[in-house]
Amino acid sequence: MKCTNCNIRLLGLEKKGLITPDITNILSSPERSIEVSIPLIKDNGELQILNGFRVQHSTARGPAKGGIRFHHHIDKEEVMELAFVMTLKTALVDIPFGGAKGGVQFNSKEYSEKEIEQVSRLYMKSMVDVFGPYKDVPAPDVNTTPKIMGYMRDEYKKITSIDEPATITGKLVEDGGSLGRDTATGRGAFNVLEKHFEGQKKKEISVAIQGFGNAGSVLARLLFDAGYTVVAVSDSKHAIYKQDGLDVHAIDKHKQDGKSLDLFSAEGLSVIVNEKLLELPVTVLAPAALGGVITEKNAANIQAKIIIEVANSPTTPEAEDMLNEKKILIIPDLLANAGGVTVSYFEWYQNIHQERWTLEQVNQNLKEKMEKAYDETKEKSDKLDVSLREAAYLVAIERIIAARPLY
Ligand code: NAD
Repeated sequence: MKCTNCNIRLLGLEKKGLITPDITNILSSPERSIEVSIPLIKDNGELQILNGFRVQHSTARGPAKGGIRFHHHIDKEEVMELAFVMTLKTALVDIPFGGAKGGVQFNSKEYSEKEIEQVSRLYMKSMVDVFGPYKDVPAPDVNTTPKIMGYMRDEYKKITSIDEPATITGKLVEDGGSLGRDTATGRGAFNVLEKHFEGQKKKEISVAIQGFGNAGSVLARLLFDAGYTVVAVSDSKHAIYKQDGLDVHAIDKHKQDGKSLDLFSAEGLSVIVNEKLLELPVTVLAPAALGGVITEKNAANIQAKIIIEVANSPTTPEAEDMLNEKKILIIPDLLANAGGVTVSYFEWYQNIHQERWTLEQVNQNLKEKMEKAYDETKEKSDKLDVSLREAAYLVAIERIIAARPLY
């Protein structure tokens, strides 16, 4: 069993002599891949068989860890690649987990709540032996919510008679979830930027953020509060720009009131074409919405000095080559958005030890993890004269191989 895309990602490092062909081979081969057929009886009585997947890429450093997504485009190859990325991410932030990912191939938006509950329960039922707090710990992902995780946890409990909150992370706080999980990804990215700009005047650092959702809005708020100049934000429909800085709290309130971003008004503010946000002359560009938004088509127009990849894979490899030539620094997704899984680990840890951390404890521990990962990545990058992305891979790979040596 081979993960072609994992292989492609690793070959670059192998060609530079930074990892051996054996390492490429082992990390391109997930430990375990499970495929199931999920027999859904729809509300109209019709039987539909859905494909379900779970890939445990690696358990070398601890229980496999990764989300379950519901998406009509998901397939085995994609799940393998996402599981591989989880293995690297957990190793980079040095939490005692491996990597996994799962999914069901269907467009959940077209299904009733009752049908979604049935899919969730059947998915867990068909893989109940796979999961467990010390084996494989799932979490919400694209189109899956704490409520859906609740169905899965309940099904697990029904079958195994084990009622252990650590079976699943990303739970609601009242069901054993962790404080601070909802803000962890944006906060983790903020911690990384703070470390990067240590000692510099924040007001002179301008930031444009694509995507004002969970990760992007938290990052915007924290940067604003810390004194950075957030000049632009966007959602799926509109982008707004104000050269001397936006009031992020006012935008937050505006959005919470259900108002469209283009109706936000302030002196000197302009509504710009969404894609133009990526090309603004700023210190930091934070793509925090979708993958594949910086491509060979727009890379030449990017003027930011630094790109922090809050979204997964926002930069295509072709664009990355162009940005490297322009000496634009990329803080890779592996590092930039690892705050989420880090606090998922804190949730698991609190459940196992029957502890309840305060928000301050969660945020402080997250800060320490993110800063350490940044320092280690930067040190590796400087030492080997490689990009931060290559360095993040190497730090992670060293840990995975050390945990389960090849020879
Ligand atoms: P979200 O759904 O809460 O927010 C996404 C935002 O992007 C929304 O505001 C949406 O309007 C906006 N958007 C969509 N299309 C856009 C476009 N074309 N231009 C500008 N904005 C657009 O999602 P999120 O949880 O904030 O995740 C954002 C990214 O971060 C995703 O790539 C996700 O995979 C990644 N990520 C999130 C987490 C997490 O814990 N939330 C963890 C790791 C990675």
